[in-house]
Amino acid sequence: MTEDKQRRVAAACARQWGLITSAQIEMLGLNRQDTKRMREAGLLITLQRGLYRHHSVTETVPTVLSDARCAWLLTRPAMWGEDRLALPAPDAVLTATTALTLHGITPDAGVVVPEIAMNTQRSYRSTARILAPPDRLDWAQAQVIDGLPIARPIPALAAVIAAASADHRNPRSAELTSFVAAAVARICDDAADRPEGDAVIGQVAGVVGRRSTQVVDVAQMLATLCREAGVSEDILAQTVLVGRWNLAVPVDRTRQAVAAVLAAAFTAPSVSLPVVLADLFSVDPHQLGQVWRCAHRGCPDRATGSGYCSRHRVLEVRDRTTRPVADGDEIARSGFGIYGRLDDDGHTVLCHECGRRLRHINARHLAGHDMTAAEYRVAHGISPRVGLISGDSHRRRAQNSFDQGRPDLLRHLRPTAAQRRPPPD
Ligand SMILES: [Zn+2]
Ligand SMILES: [Zn+2]
Repeated sequence: MTEDKQRRVAAACARQWGLITSAQIEMLGLNRQDTKRMREAGLLITLQRGLYRHHSVTETVPTVLSDARCAWLLTRPAMWGEDRLALPAPDAVLTATTALTLHGITPDAGVVVPEIAMNTQRSYRSTARILAPPDRLDWAQAQVIDGLPIARPIPALAAVIAAASADHRNPRSAELTSFVAAAVARICDDAADRPEGDAVIGQVAGVVGRRSTQVVDVAQMLATLCREAGVSEDILAQTVLVGRWNLAVPVDRTRQAVAAVLAAAFTAPSVSLPVVLADLFSVDPHQLGQVWRCAHRGCPDRATGSGYCSRHRVLEVRDRTTRPVADGDEIARSGFGIYGRLDDDGHTVLCHECGRRLRHINARHLAGHDMTAAEYRVAHGISPRVGLISGDSHRRRAQNSFDQGRPDLLRHLRPTAAQRRPPPD
């Protein structure tokens, strides 16, 4: 055991917060006997299996930070930390609650298992919790602080929510909701005075509104934030807490509502928060809040779960089905057409079976192909909500049915109980 070997270990430890893995010690040309002797001489202190601390380190009480460093080194013990930081994409990044704690956004929770995002599940023996990132890891999502890669606050918050939704044991826990509310408040508060404040709020709303409705009670979360901004319980009860809107509206609507509330609460508001809340969530039929309204431009009707009223829902599905193929769409051919698409030029539609263009693909035409309309729809992926009919014919028919008064028409189709009763003899 030469002094040279000890010096090499000391120098390597100095570049890694005083820590070294057994694989790294081997890379320095020391064998197991050398390591054992250094341990026995008190030069190396075992922290976990395969991980040592150099005796020169004075801070010895474990903290979230020191635990995070140990866990990160052990995710790839046979590579130097500084070489890992030079990789084109990070191999492992501290994330979720651990990252939020290291950023000072959530209070130091004491002893927590470090959470690390990794692209691949390597063989790994440490106490860290490995989370699969939703997208591939990249350096733009991470911040290297004193040699340790830590997810930026917004990706870290996304990881908290993703981990909770992957883990179904505790759906929509109040604890997670208040944790997320606190983290959102800190992130938005920090960004409020900076020029990128609006972008940050948009990103936070994207993260909270995306998959979170399953695990975070978004209405309660917004209520918590509004309470802190001084909104009274009365107003909350009439707006954000009314009608369980967060379960009823589509994800993009949730995202817009969250962004609007955060903007009003954290950036210099041009309109007061209670006005914004009423505008978004009111259930007054004369002044229906935006979250409840049909997404079709100017339609005052109340939306169903789809985000549209029943009338515009049909139009919207048709728009999607007849939209021309765009770059990047996956094109799966189906007969003469494209699977799931009604090829409509306005006057005629394409028959997937024979390639002819017709104003209306009707039962008689399909009988020639030995098919019913239902079979045709299944074969070519066309929704039952979309008529096999050209745009102008569709408009004409829709207009006719409105002119005739659709409620009456429906009443004819669905006889009431009184009408169904057999006539007396
Ligand atoms: Zn509508
Ligand atoms: Zn045909």
